[in-house]
Amino acid sequence: MSALDFTRTSTTRRIGDDERAQILADPGFGQHYTDFMVHARWTAERGWGDAEVVPFGPLQLSPAAAVLHYGQEIFEGLKAFRHADGSVWTFRPEANAERMQRSARRLALPELPVEDFLASLTAATAADEPWVPEATSEESLYLRPFMFASEEFLGVRASRTVDYYVISSPAGPYFPRGVQPLIVWITDEYARAGAGGTGAAKCGGNYASSLLGKNEAAEQGADEVLFLDSETHTSIDELSGMNVFAITRDGRLLTPALTGSILEGVTRSSILALATDRGLEVIEQRLVMSEVLEQLGSGEITEMFACGTAAVINPIGEFRAKGGSWTVGDGGSGEVTLALRKELTDIQYGRIPDRHGWLTRLV
Ligand SMILES: *Cc1c(COP(=O)(O)O)cnc(C)c1O
Repeated sequence: MSALDFTRTSTTRRIGDDERAQILADPGFGQHYTDFMVHARWTAERGWGDAEVVPFGPLQLSPAAAVLHYGQEIFEGLKAFRHADGSVWTFRPEANAERMQRSARRLALPELPVEDFLASLTAATAADEPWVPEATSEESLYLRPFMFASEEFLGVRASRTVDYYVISSPAGPYFPRGVQPLIVWITDEYARAGAGGTGAAKCGGNYASSLLGKNEAAEQGADEVLFLDSETHTSIDELSGMNVFAITRDGRLLTPALTGSILEGVTRSSILALATDRGLEVIEQRLVMSEVLEQLGSGEITEMFACGTAAVINPIGEFRAKGGSWTVGDGGSGEVTLALRKELTDIQYGRIPDRHGWLTRLV
């Protein structure tokens, strides 16, 4: 049972039916927001309270709010999927709830109980149910829970006031023109996380430090940047917001072990389970970049992909670095990669049985 009761303060919709239908016809990603948002506040004196569902709109925040100066902020990302019978479901939300608690501990923020996190998702989706797209080709309602230091205080210590919100944004298919393999730039200049740092926490600061690498990738004509370990710049960590996998000719699925500088993706963990089911040998270990590039050349590695909630699975077609460029397989989308992607999305949209018990009904 959730201790927080997220009650809706208003039933007036911000956006009319016609405008909503227009937006849902081509929502893109992260461009449009729904009618409502969920809020709760934590104070050091009282703990969590003030749960409510309020109209989506600008926040009132002191310019001295701690988050604006010291970046004490974390977030989550998950999707609500409409099934053929009209019901709305989400995927492994307990995993996101528990990860948000781990992120909170690392950023000295208060942990939101798992039940309250789940209740906040239900409240957000129930209020904005008309915004959950019909699932004709991988549309969803993207849910973004986040938490930040809102205390008006410029001293440096953990904030004694923290605000939690869930905002929702309709998302179109990630690949409207079919799955497009990524070109990935390997940066030898920047790292996203170091030993003892915040790499395993889902915090805005990690993204802030990844942006220059992403710019560098764009200058090289690449779509994404790959970060290596910060100490030796030799082994694969991850992209700025996606975990990385390789598939070998002899049926092994390789991914970097979680060393503390990598974010533990829910998609990553689901792929490990589905690959095991398929009889692939799943190996989590240090992946040395130079060895991976050699094995691409020799044909020992046949497929590579990146994964995360937004894209689900995105094939990698090519790597670029200062020393040259390397094609993955034939540069297209690998067969096993696409099969894993199809299986995962079929589970999410209720098209095949949910044998792992990963789905939770929201509405
Ligand atoms: C969110 C995120 C991922 C992917 O996690 P999912 O739970 O699969 O969406 C991977 N890397 C980073 C840095 C992230 O922030």
